[in-house]
Amino acid sequence: MEKRIAICPGSFDPITKGHLDIIRRAATLFDEVIVLIMVNYTKANTAFTAAERVEMARRVTSDIPNVRVDYYAGLLADYARQQGACTLVKGLRAVTDFEYEFQMALTNKKLYPSLETLFLTTDIQYMYLSSSVVRQVASFGGDISEFVCPELLEDIQKRLAPASGALPNA
Ligand code: ADP
Repeated sequence: MEKRIAICPGSFDPITKGHLDIIRRAATLFDEVIVLIMVNYTKANTAFTAAERVEMARRVTSDIPNVRVDYYAGLLADYARQQGACTLVKGLRAVTDFEYEFQMALTNKKLYPSLETLFLTTDIQYMYLSSSVVRQVASFGGDISEFVCPELLEDIQKRLAPASGALPNA
């Protein structure tokens, strides 16, 4: 039987416990899951480079045997076709995610009609969580240990925390 491959696409800038929860759940539903680090032109200035985002995603998913991490700068539908993926798995946090995700799902369906988008409801404990929350809290030196995996904590803090004594950017 053909392998059922799903893709979890996103910016992952950086990857959070909320993302990881969706990835783990997707891994129980499909033979293989590709965590795909992408370029989102509405979020062009990422805090972490593509290579860093890939490396962090690899580190936190290394214990899940049917998950691999990849990077693609082109069209998601093209990547899905190349990989023979049948489904995009996305997390839905709130009504606010819905309109954008609905539009993306219909667009991807238009570009690649056999590609389905599957929405998993966020775990209630991660409902408020986003990469931008992590970036904001960390950039003011706040505690992000509830939001990101312990193995990434130090690297993310080091990168985003304000240098001690330095004046914040106006
Ligand atoms: P994008 O740049 O497409 O918004 P993100 O990196 O922000 O991508 O997120 C990738 C996917 O993970 C999206 O489907 C998003 O809804 C989902 N996601 C992000 N944070 C959470 C969370 N806390 N709980 C569930 N899903 C989430």
